[in-house]
Amino acid sequence: YETFLNHTVDESTGVTFNEINQLNNEIRPIIKNLVQENFFRIFRLNLFKECPFWNDGGFCMHRSCAVDTIDDWNDLPEIWQPEALGKLEGSTLVNNLNDDNSTNYDKDYCDLDGFLYDTVYVDLVANPERFTGYGGDQSWQIWKSIYNENCFNLGHDQCLEKNFFYKIISGMHASISTHLSNEYLNKQLMDYKPSLEQFMIRVGNHPDRIANLYLNYIVVLKSLIKLETYGVFDHLNFTDDSNFVEKECEFKSSFRTLLNPAVEFTNSKNQCMFEEDVLFKEDDSLIVKEEIRENFYNITRIMDCVHCDRCRLWGKLQTTGYGTALKVLFELKDKEHFQINLSKMEIIALVNTFDRLSKSVESVMMFKNMYDEAIRRE
Ligand code: FAD
Repeated sequence: YETFLNHTVDESTGVTFNEINQLNNEIRPIIKNLVQENFFRIFRLNLFKECPFWNDGGFCMHRSCAVDTIDDWNDLPEIWQPEALGKLEGSTLVNNLNDDNSTNYDKDYCDLDGFLYDTVYVDLVANPERFTGYGGDQSWQIWKSIYNENCFNLGHDQCLEKNFFYKIISGMHASISTHLSNEYLNKQLMDYKPSLEQFMIRVGNHPDRIANLYLNYIVVLKSLIKLETYGVFDHLNFTDDSNFVEKECEFKSSFRTLLNPAVEFTNSKNQCMFEEDVLFKEDDSLIVKEEIRENFYNITRIMDCVHCDRCRLWGKLQTTGYGTALKVLFELKDKEHFQINLSKMEIIALVNTFDRLSKSVESVMMFKNMYDEAIRRE
């Protein structure tokens, strides 16, 4: 395993597992604090949208599948209250980055409708992602449909792009599996504790899944670095309320602090962590890219078919986070004229998805220590 850690994560990057672990040690405390902030801990979504693909009417009976929503306006953090009022007037997309003020829905990698109508507010910190008991045929059907989106119709041999798309999905699956193993229900203690056994079965015994998880960390981090270096964060309005201007400056400075270690690291290596331009280089690239965008868009819709509300919440958040990262990497090209829109929910999803990946990388190392300790004791 020690040798494995010195290998590069993927052929598309020169970065090793060990280097990501070290970088994450620096980044972890900052992102952990950021997602505890009243702004980033709230997610607004339609949790009860009907599944658009099949009708099986299933639902999850476990208490741990439930989500506690914030039903009273007074219970929302102050920074969210103006938006909750404005919601009545339909104010939702707050970050129109387009110079010509036109909307660019054709560039979305996520179904954003679920953030516009019949939405509820959820405190993510009060509803942590953990083992819920959701499984069997129901979750298997969802994962199968997600992996099936990996089939492309057109184009050149598409190996590079197809592999990349598969790795993103597998890395997301590995990250979700790591979280539920990390907070696994110990039935004797009736408490949530790390389960090394669950981790090894689901992730630890599959080096390819660990590699895909680390690749996702690199891809999402690269999208955040791109937003920072293109100056996009400076153009974002986190709220419309002037009472929170200072808070907004604080967030912008937190992003700089968060990303600084990664920027310094890439400068010291004199190479980019992940070069998105290596993808979609062939003649028919536009068609392949469009297929990837549509497939990812569908995956965010498949989330409406997840029967366990808690899993649906975190599934929706993370697929939206990855979709946003892909939109930033593949559609944001021109530093002078931003050609994409970013909604508040996409930014919150992106930041929280990076936190989830950072937590996963930390957990992989924790499980490695547990494993070493178990071997020593044998
Ligand atoms: P699954 O994880 O269901 O995997 C199915 C099959 O996929 C495996 O047999 C294997 O062949 C393959 N596979 C597994 N991992 C990978 C990988 N990383 N890369 C490639 N192939 C892989 N459960 C919770 O307890 N808490 C949650 O928060 C939660 N969130 C979920 C969110 C979504 C969107 C979905 C679809 C499910 C979620 N679940 C959650 C359920 C959980 O992911 C598992 O499906 C469930 O625990 C049953 O696990 P399993 O052992 O049958 O394998």
